[in-house]
Amino acid sequence: MSTVIPLADRFGRVATDLRVSLTDRCNLRCTYCMPEEGLAWMPREQQLTDDEVGRLIRIAVEMLGVRDVRFTGGEPLLRRGLVGIVRAAASLSPRPDLMLTTNGIGLERLAGPLREAGLDRVNVSLDTLDPVRFQALTRRDRLDDVLRGLAAAAAAGLTPVKINTVLMRGINDDEAPALLRFALDHGYQLRFIEQMPLDAQHQWDRHTMVTADEILASLSPYGLLPDLVSRGTAPAETWLVPGHVDAAGEPARVGVIGSVTRPFCGDCDRTRLTADGQVRDCLFAREESDLRKLLRDGAPDAEVAEAWRVAMSGKRAGHGIDDPAFLQPTRPMSAIGG
Ligand code: SAM
Repeated sequence: MSTVIPLADRFGRVATDLRVSLTDRCNLRCTYCMPEEGLAWMPREQQLTDDEVGRLIRIAVEMLGVRDVRFTGGEPLLRRGLVGIVRAAASLSPRPDLMLTTNGIGLERLAGPLREAGLDRVNVSLDTLDPVRFQALTRRDRLDDVLRGLAAAAAAGLTPVKINTVLMRGINDDEAPALLRFALDHGYQLRFIEQMPLDAQHQWDRHTMVTADEILASLSPYGLLPDLVSRGTAPAETWLVPGHVDAAGEPARVGVIGSVTRPFCGDCDRTRLTADGQVRDCLFAREESDLRKLLRDGAPDAEVAEAWRVAMSGKRAGHGIDDPAFLQPTRPMSAIGG
């Protein structure tokens, strides 16, 4: 086995959690993510092949000490080779934890094959339970597909099934209690994510975003209690929901990811790979390092691994959203990998 030299930065953080975007395409058009007509999708030849993705994940696990791999996008279920990519990652040693973030469309069919290939867990994005709102928010009439996808994920054992929700003022910010009730009833774990300046349309506004404090205030009828289990490097702060247990019989929890008002950059352990093989050290990074070129120029594993280490060593202390000089990254969330 190769010697592991980890992805360390000058602030003492070590990246062990890899987010791999498998495509920038999506079958929804969430209003806060991309315009109705979609975006100029990445040309196929620029996208990493399944073998290239597999090779980079192997280098990350075997040579850089990555322990968790999360597949995302765009919509990762649209990637034809997904099951094979998961199977290859699951065969690595040490075997990484394998997760997927998805909008849930198509999960009904794919949950079983993905589980069988070695996927451990899923996060399904769901911002509303109201079909009319769902259509307005995503510009597609697919709420039932998402709900069936959630059920299939639970049935396939991709547990705990987590739900990611973004609340937006005047659109779905009244739905936090109902979404929590739904999650508790079905044994899913709900996590609210503060909206971040990552939309393709550059319409994010700090003054109208729904904050973690507001989300928690709207859940006050549940009498949430602080969760004494350490959060570690997880982005979500969690609270216990008294009187409820999850599918495993543990106390039920709800999470809030306060990326804007409660940043957790000091504990960040993430490294990101875009679908065209660029390493990003942060969602908000303005620079990327091109690993695809190294792969296609025939670089050996050791050279690719070293380029990845160099890329991560310059990670900034924080995402800088509060900095007056903050500039939104050129790529939107869907092209970085959320
Ligand atoms: N298509 C997959 C999905 O829907 O989960 C994966 C990619 S999507 C970009 C990942 C997550 O990012 C979704 O939960 C989505 O709601 C969230 N998201 C998109 N834009 C966001 C923003 N500006 N701020 C916070 N979360 C955002």
